[in-house]
Amino acid sequence: MIQAPPFRDGRLHVGLTGGIASGKSTVARLFAERGVPVIDLDQVAREVVEPGQPALEAIVDAFGSEVLDDEGKLDRGVLRARVFKDEAARRRLEALLHPLILEATVRHVEAAGGPYQVIVAPLLVEFGLAGWADRVLVVDCPTAIQLQRLMTRDGNDEALARSILAAQATRDERLAAAHDVISNANGPELLKDPVAQLDALYRDMAATGERDRPGLRLP
Ligand code: ADP
Repeated sequence: MIQAPPFRDGRLHVGLTGGIASGKSTVARLFAERGVPVIDLDQVAREVVEPGQPALEAIVDAFGSEVLDDEGKLDRGVLRARVFKDEAARRRLEALLHPLILEATVRHVEAAGGPYQVIVAPLLVEFGLAGWADRVLVVDCPTAIQLQRLMTRDGNDEALARSILAAQATRDERLAAAHDVISNANGPELLKDPVAQLDALYRDMAATGERDRPGLRLP
C-alpha cells in the first residue's frame, strides 16, 4: 500500500486501469480525442528520472553512479538488472520512486484543467490506490486475448507473457475495485460509443459534483 498525496483541486479524477495490453492506452486516446486531459503514470515515471530531477539523484545515492549511462541519463537496463531477483533492492527503489511519481502526478493533474481528468494507472489496484481516484474505470478483456495482444505488441514469447501477467492483479481483483468497466474484447472501433457514454457520465458528475452514480458496465 502506498500513501498517495491527495488532489487538492476538488475536481473529478478518474483512475483508468487494466492489465498489461488490455487496451488502457487505446481507451485513454479516445478520452483525449474528446478533449479530456489524460495523465499517464508510466510517462510521469519516466519524467521524474530525467537528468536534473530529484529522483535520479536519489537513485544514484542508493545504487551508485553505475546506473547512469555516458550522458548521465538513467540506464534502465542496468537498474532493472540490479533490482531483478533482489527483493530488498526493488523495495528500496520503489520506496524512493513512488512518492515522487505520485507527487508529480498530482502536480500534473492540478495543472491540467479540463472538465475532469483521466489518470492512467496500470498498477492502481496492485498498489492499493483505488481510493485515490474518485472513480475507477477498468479496461477488461479475457486473459487469453490479453496474452495474445501482449505477445503481438511486445514480441514476448508465451512463457514471458504469462509470467508478466502472473505478477499483476487478477482480472477478478481488478473488476472488484471497478466503478465502471469497459470491455475491450472486440474490435477497437467498438470502444468509441462506450467511451462517449462514460465521458457523458463523468462530465455530468463533474458538473453536478455528484460522486456516487451507479457503475456503468459497457458494452
Ligand atoms: P495497454 O495500454 O493496456 O498496455 P494497449 O492500448 O497498448 O494496452 O493495447 C495493447 C495492444 O493491443 C496494442 O498493440 C493495441 O494496438 C492492441 N489493441 C488494443 N485494443 C485492441 C482491440 N480492441 N482489438 C485489437 N487490438 C487491440
